[in-house]
Amino acid sequence: VVQRHPVAPATAERVAAAVRDGLRECVPANPSDVRQAYRTLRALLAQGRDAATVFAALEEAGLRGLGGAGFPTGRKWRIVAAEPAPRLMVVNADEGEPGTFKDRVLLEQDPHRVLEGMLIGAWATGCTDCYIYLRDEYAGVRAGLARAIDALRADPPLHPLPGIHLRRGAGAYVCGEESALIESLEGRRGVPRLRPPYVAQAGLFGRPTLVNNVETLWWAPEILARGPQWFAGQGRHGRSGLRAFSVSGRVRQPGVKIAPAGITLRELVDEHCGGMAEGHELRAWLPGGASGGLLPASMADLPLDFDTLQPHGCFIGSAAVIVLSRQDDLRAAVRNLVRFFRNESCGQCTPCRSGTARLDELLAQPRWDGALIGELATAMADASICGLGQAAPNPLVCAIRHFPELLEGAR
Ligand code: SF4
Repeated sequence: VVQRHPVAPATAERVAAAVRDGLRECVPANPSDVRQAYRTLRALLAQGRDAATVFAALEEAGLRGLGGAGFPTGRKWRIVAAEPAPRLMVVNADEGEPGTFKDRVLLEQDPHRVLEGMLIGAWATGCTDCYIYLRDEYAGVRAGLARAIDALRADPPLHPLPGIHLRRGAGAYVCGEESALIESLEGRRGVPRLRPPYVAQAGLFGRPTLVNNVETLWWAPEILARGPQWFAGQGRHGRSGLRAFSVSGRVRQPGVKIAPAGITLRELVDEHCGGMAEGHELRAWLPGGASGGLLPASMADLPLDFDTLQPHGCFIGSAAVIVLSRQDDLRAAVRNLVRFFRNESCGQCTPCRSGTARLDELLAQPRWDGALIGELATAMADASICGLGQAAPNPLVCAIRHFPELLEGAR
């Protein structure tokens, strides 16, 4: 369950008084209700704030892209705003990373808050149309989002309201990659594009395009409402900010947990998940879904945030934390992940298309050839076009590094 911060309804006087610290009084008490939503956006407009103050607030807060890439949000908005009009916006709701379900929960609980973040982004960057690309398996979210968009259109907080287009994905993991997503939105097969040009320069229909993940937009209104220092001061172990962790596996209470950036796996499990599941002892964990790698129990005290896991060959990505115990078969788990990438490879480039297939074949052997796997993994990481092929060997390479006994057939 996502924790909320109920605050009394805003008045014009309260809004004016709150400017110094952000727009704290405008945080809606029940933002799932359209009558309570969009207060931050309305306050920004009522106070005559300009886009530059919004960019500066997001930069000061340290908000980064929470779909996994971690690009600074304020800087991205500033870059797109500087490109020639017309500009377009895309909301990436094609949540497909194994173990990730935070965007679904955020959209189910509070669609207006995501829409408010989207409208603030479109207003600040001057985007004329917003395209929401939603994972098609989320039929319930689609219905709720459609109702929320209808309610928004009936009482728009922004004039003119940008065009809002709700589009259905078609089940391809690679369409979570922004340029493949744009290809799909344009009606073609979803395959990643070569860069440059970057989508901020030439994205959807060839126009400069702002692409943001659902959770990134979910945080933007609250940061502007409470002030950037509020968000920046929420981290732990020297990190800053909050984020939504999707926790699954051998814990007592799996689910979406709003927790400080920099929290450790041990703290996340103990403080937010009720500890390990009955009868299970931590053996290994995935910090960032299928592509973020795999770490042993001995590294459960590392801060979970962008950049902190890279020295260990891992990354946090979309913060999909999967907890495995001593009762789990690591060989089977790793092979399952490699097969996932084999199935989801779009086939456009050889290192990924053939590399994932060859890795799967190598893992079918009773003893794994560590040297050959390492050579193949390096070639895939160096030569694949997009993050799918580059990250596909991650869980396997990490598993061999931290559990070398798997090479000899141990489970
Ligand atoms: Fe397609 Fe894989 Fe190449 Fe990405 S790395 S473009 S998914 S074949």
